[in-house]
Amino acid sequence: EAKRGGGDRIEPFRPSYRSAGYGRLQVESDLRRAFERNELSLAFQPIIRLDGEETAGFEALLRWEHPRRGAISPTEFVPIAESTGLIVQLGQFALEEAARRLSDWHRMTGNQKLFMSVNISSRQLIRQDLIADVRTVLERYRLPPGSLKLELTESIVMDNPERSAQLLTRLRSLGVGLSLDDFGTGYSSLAYLMGFPFDTLKIDQSFLKNNSQPQRPIILHSIVTMAHDLGLQVVAEGVETDADVVLLRQLNCEYAQSFMFSQPMTAEQARKALHDHMAGLKRAS
Ligand code: C2E
Ligand code: MG
Ligand code: MG
Ligand code: MG
Repeated sequence: EAKRGGGDRIEPFRPSYRSAGYGRLQVESDLRRAFERNELSLAFQPIIRLDGEETAGFEALLRWEHPRRGAISPTEFVPIAESTGLIVQLGQFALEEAARRLSDWHRMTGNQKLFMSVNISSRQLIRQDLIADVRTVLERYRLPPGSLKLELTESIVMDNPERSAQLLTRLRSLGVGLSLDDFGTGYSSLAYLMGFPFDTLKIDQSFLKNNSQPQRPIILHSIVTMAHDLGLQVVAEGVETDADVVLLRQLNCEYAQSFMFSQPMTAEQARKALHDHMAGLKRAS
């Protein structure tokens, strides 16, 4: 294990793109080329309903398969794409591709309630055309607006609270869902964030790690209860233990998204999983 940053945070050593001798500029130009050469794709991770274990929807996650370096994590390339502005094109690609897949899966399953969550970056939100882009994909793929959800982190809305509030209200009026992503990693209170029209709260995985912390169940309890009192649905991200699943069920937390239930998968795998599930239901009836 390697110690980084001078603090007492211990991070497992992971040979990164940068440590492989690549500079940031190299990553930037590779990323631009990657986009043009179709090295980017989406992975889809199921979001599971906790009363039962049905897949209620998916989160679309960007993937980059570099021809020489292999898979590069979005935690590495998304921040670079954000600082260069390329995230706007990447984000448009993700929105379009996620909407296209969702409409295919709606047609195949007949379940129009199946939803797709797409991550939106700060730059994308501030660009006025996000609203036009969202309206376009809803129409192009004839999606029930509520089946598309946009995920935004607290830091995105806090960068520019007034403008964000306006834009989010306009997005809401199109009927799409709005999820507050990575809740608990920032500093704002949930009460303050409720000035924004979110309908779903995603509890950050950091709350579901450190299982030894005795106060954890109390914290989870208060987050879920408060979210529900404020009319939000809750997704627990990165749940790691059966005990936490039991606790979250007791708290009536609606959804979980974690490796415990499923890893992110390719579009083809996701389609097959939905298809096999339907076949199983038909056999059982
Ligand atoms: P996020 O939006 O919070 O996405 C959830 C991340 O948690 C994903 O990582 C997912 O693979 C991971 N995860 C899910 N379950 C578990 C678990 O049980 N254990 C652990 N340890 N991790 C779990 P991923 O795919 O590496 O994405 C990382 C981040 O990159 C995302 O965090 C999001 O902030 C960003 N990102 C990914 N795709 C996009 C995109 O299309 N646009 C933008 N703007 N950001 C994206
Ligand atoms: Mg997300
Ligand atoms: Mg998250
Ligand atoms: Mg995250």
